[in-house]
Amino acid sequence: MKPNIQDFREDELSNLIKPKFRAKQIYSWLYHKYIISFDDMKNLPKPLRDELKERFEISPLKIDRVEESIDGTKKYLFELKDGNTVEAVLLLMKKAEYHSDGAIKHKERYTVCISCQVGCKVGCSFCLTGKSGFLRDLTAGEIVEQVRIIKRDNNIEANRRLNIVYMGMGEPLDNLKAVAQSSKIFSEPNGLAIAPHRQTISTSGLSSKIVKLGKMKLGVNLAISLHAVDDELREKLMPINKAYNIKSIIDAVKKFPINERKRVMFEYLVIKGVNDDIKSAKKLLSLLNGIKSKVNLIYFNPYGESEYKRPDRESMLKFQDYLTSRGLHCTIRESKGLDISGACGQLRNQEIKD
Ligand code: SAH
Ligand code: SF4
Repeated sequence: MKPNIQDFREDELSNLIKPKFRAKQIYSWLYHKYIISFDDMKNLPKPLRDELKERFEISPLKIDRVEESIDGTKKYLFELKDGNTVEAVLLLMKKAEYHSDGAIKHKERYTVCISCQVGCKVGCSFCLTGKSGFLRDLTAGEIVEQVRIIKRDNNIEANRRLNIVYMGMGEPLDNLKAVAQSSKIFSEPNGLAIAPHRQTISTSGLSSKIVKLGKMKLGVNLAISLHAVDDELREKLMPINKAYNIKSIIDAVKKFPINERKRVMFEYLVIKGVNDDIKSAKKLLSLLNGIKSKVNLIYFNPYGESEYKRPDRESMLKFQDYLTSRGLHCTIRESKGLDISGACGQLRNQEIKD
């Protein structure tokens, strides 16, 4: 099979084609003008366009379905060349604001949540993606394309600041090579130019890979899906905890190079009656002692046959208050797009059933 042109960083591309400077032009067509056909690369000579067509694939994803929420969240289901599907989400973090004279105060702020695998091997008991099993890794180009197509579909200007979170389907550290490559492609100055400190990799806690990621010095932010403070419960929620327990994760995080202005994010999925008690909050506080961290509480988002329940707002606020009053940074993730098959894996699951 031909490689995809989006699998390559600019320096790699410039070694593959002649003359070298064409790589910069190709990057601009791909990542500033979002073209999806080699024929549209108008400033390239026809013979070069033909050569590219012969040697490379382009634009490996097709939009299969889009759902838009009233809060501005847009959820995409993409079809890959082999017919598999993955999800990505465009989150409107802040609406544009204007001064009274009509001048712009700030433009919209976006975050794109992307997938890195079709399915997931980790098999967490609360996660639909995990329940549907693992099919394959995505390539770097397939990861990058999710952002490019979403920018194209929403006419988001090339130079608009945007954040990326690897929090869609799949476990990023189980596909580390392609994920690391995609991160480098995202940050290419002549491409999407999304600086590493605007990218966050979320992991279920593959401790040895956290250390490996740290050694790669990509400069990305780290998020840990912790969800439980003792190994017994964590094993029930996340079977991976048998291989990598909580202590091993905390030790790995302590070795991770954190950007001076940043903190490691600990995601804590709150499930009613399971992990929403103050005893857990207390233990969480002591676990994170000595780590430059912030906690993000997530409401469990129920789906059809799920055995768990969404916590009520009051217990979320109590949990948060316990932590913040003791000096920990703690936010509650407002469940965006609840009305549109909110959490990861849910739109795809719906499609499979349809
Ligand atoms: N595999 C990585 C990244 C993808 S999952 C990881 O686990 O970190 C991204 C986030 O979605 C995780 O924090 C996960 O806990 C959350 N998630 C999964 N199922 C959910 C559900 N039903 N409701 C709310 N969040 C969910
Ligand atoms: Fe995989 Fe993350 Fe879902 Fe767990 S929560 S099954 S690691 S995608």
